[in-house]
Order: sequence, then C-alpha cells, then structure tokens
Amino acid sequence: MYPIDKKENWFTGKGHWSSIADEEWFNWKWQIRNRLTHKEHFQEYIQLTDNEIKGFDIAQNKLSVSVTPYFFNLIDPNNPNCPIRKQIIPTGSESIISDGEFSDPVGEENTMPVPGIVHRYPDRVLFLVTSTCASYCRYCTRSRLVSNAQNYDFHPSLEAGFEYIENNNSIRDVLISGGDPLLLSDNKIHYILNRLRKIDHIEFVRIGSRIPVFLPQRITDNLLSIFKEQENLWVSIHVNHPQECTEELYNTCRKLVCSGIPLGNQTVLLKGINDKTNIMKSLIHRLMMMKVKPYYLYQCDLIEGSAHFRTDPSVGLKIISELRGYTTGYSIPQFVIDAPGGGGKIPINPDYILKYDNEEILLKNYEGEIYSYPSNTNPLPKESFLIP
Ligand SMILES: *Cc1c(COP(=O)(O)O)cnc(C)c1O
Repeated sequence: MYPIDKKENWFTGKGHWSSIADEEWFNWKWQIRNRLTHKEHFQEYIQLTDNEIKGFDIAQNKLSVSVTPYFFNLIDPNNPNCPIRKQIIPTGSESIISDGEFSDPVGEENTMPVPGIVHRYPDRVLFLVTSTCASYCRYCTRSRLVSNAQNYDFHPSLEAGFEYIENNNSIRDVLISGGDPLLLSDNKIHYILNRLRKIDHIEFVRIGSRIPVFLPQRITDNLLSIFKEQENLWVSIHVNHPQECTEELYNTCRKLVCSGIPLGNQTVLLKGINDKTNIMKSLIHRLMMMKVKPYYLYQCDLIEGSAHFRTDPSVGLKIISELRGYTTGYSIPQFVIDAPGGGGKIPINPDYILKYDNEEILLKNYEGEIYSYPSNTNPLPKESFLIP
C-alpha cells in the first residue's frame, strides 16, 4: 500500500537541478530547452541498463526520446524498475515486434476523412493538431506519427479540419489531441478554441494532454485566461502512477479547476508499472484529491514493440473487481479495450449478473454475496438492451 496519499508527502522541488534559479525552473521554455534526449545526458544522473542503452539506439527510428527535467526528477535513480523510468526511457524490447501488433493499432488511418480528423463515432471527432509532445511515452499508440521518428511527416491542415467539422452538423463534440495540443503556442491554442466555438453545432470541446504531468510549468496565467474564456472546455490528463501526483501537478490541477475546467484522467494499464490494485487505488485516490475524475483505464493497445508493457485483459478486470465496492464509486475508471482495427472503445466489466430472465435478475455484489431483483414488471425485449 502507498501510505502516503496525504498531499504533504508528495514530491516537489528541483531535485537534480537544485542550482537552477526558480525563474528558469518554473519557465516552461527552459524545461523544453533542457529536456534529456541522449543517453549521455541521462547517464549524468542515472546508470542505464544494457537494455536501455540498446533502446536509445533504436529510438531514433521509432519514437524519439525526450524527458523534461521536471519529470525526470520523479525517477528513483536507485531502482531500475522505477515505474516512472519505464514509461519514458526506451529499452531494446521495443525492437521486438510480436504477432498481432500494428503501427496503427486502433485503425485511425481508415477513418481519417482529412489529415488530422479521426471520425469514428457518429457525433464526435478526434482532431489531431500536432505531432510533438513534451516527453514521449514508450507505449505511445500513435508512435507512427508522433515525434516523426518514422518519417510520417504529419502536417494536419487545421483549416481542412475546421471545414470538415463545419460541414458535418452531426458533430457536437471535438476532442483535440495529437501529439500534445498544449505544446502549441498560446495564440494557436486560442485560435483553435475560438474557431471551434464559432461553429454552431459544437456543444463542447475536450483537450487531451499530458502537459500537466510532464510540464506543469506550461499552464501559465495567460493560458489559463484563454481557457477561462471558453464556456465549454474540458481537459483530460494522463496519469499512470501515484508517483506522478506531485505538489506541482496538484497546484496545476487546482488552477485549471479554478479556471472552470472539469478534469478527467486516462490511465493505460502497464505491466510492472500500475498493474496492481494497491497502486491503482492510490492513483485514483490522489486524482480525486486533485479534483480529477478517473475516466478511462485502457488495456494497452497492440502497438508495435509493446509486448513488454501489456498485461492480459483479465488483470484489468481483476483490478476493477477489487476496486468496486471497496472504494469511492466516483473514483473508479471505466476499463476499456480500444478495439484493434477501428472498433472504438469497448467497455469490459467484471461479471455481476449471474442470471437474467423474466422473473429476476440474479446479481453478485462486490463481496460475492448473491442478491435477486425482480424483473417481471414489463420486461423489455432482450433486443432492446443487447448490442445489435
Ligand atoms: C476516444 C475517442 C473519442 C472519444 O471517445 P469518448 O468515449 O467519447 O471519450 C472520439 N473519437 C475517437 C477516434 C477516439 O479514439
């Protein structure tokens, strides 16, 4: 158990960079300029394993390496299995491509009517606005285009995207992602949000970003004032492990919430990182303390070279069954598999229904006790609640 969910104990500070002036440390451009990108740079602070050194050699043609000093400080230098380290330092295992892995694991290319727009669901689109991030997650589902190490040369035309959305009035929800949209300039972010706001049929907009986690310094007063102007903006962050919940992230979430932004979190289930119930519980408790609603828990996508990160789906089901009933319902994310080939996100749940017929629905509660609820008052035909 992580006994330290109390915020007083969360990591904060400049760590390895204690001699750097505060003005620099808290300046996001300094953090970007001083990102760790080469193995020699990492070796100044930690001893890389042989597998990691191999990882640096293949990364340049696969997915760039880049870590902000802020996030690097969260690595425990004495633990080669540190859950932070594994997320952002490459390993030779990434070169092992297993059967059934894809460069586009959730089939986005097939549903891209214009570059950057993924239109899979009837009423909403994913809008990819950039291919760069502050740091690169080694299990990235979009590594084919993110960081441009594979020469995808992603150049979305924002105008073509806006036009597509304008011309499709069934679209009421736009999810802006990438890459990381919050790495764009304030002016560009402002422009995108205002441009979408002018489209009558758009009810709300979401930004998916790991910037608050990798580079909390980026959430400046000016950016917050841009967000404050938006009537309908939500932000989804991406935290995988309780160690990422620092004082800095706490303060950043607080500022976002105070600017009127509801926050959700998406977590990827990762082997040896967060695939234990106690770790997941600590994570979701900390998220709740930061006013972040745990939204999705993702089964790791079948991206090329990710076998070392993937658990069996049963692991996620077990974790959910060990959370439901045992902790705040509000804090429990929906476990999903983003279906290979482009089927979208499919919820998978532990089985609480033992039997369902015209007389009763027979249920198991979280402790395994069995309960019956009558079903004989005007039952709907099965077709009405079964997926067609
Ligand atoms: C995840 C995703 C969405 C948003 O799905 P929600 O379940 O509404 O969060 C929309 N479009 C695509 C292509 C997606 O991958």
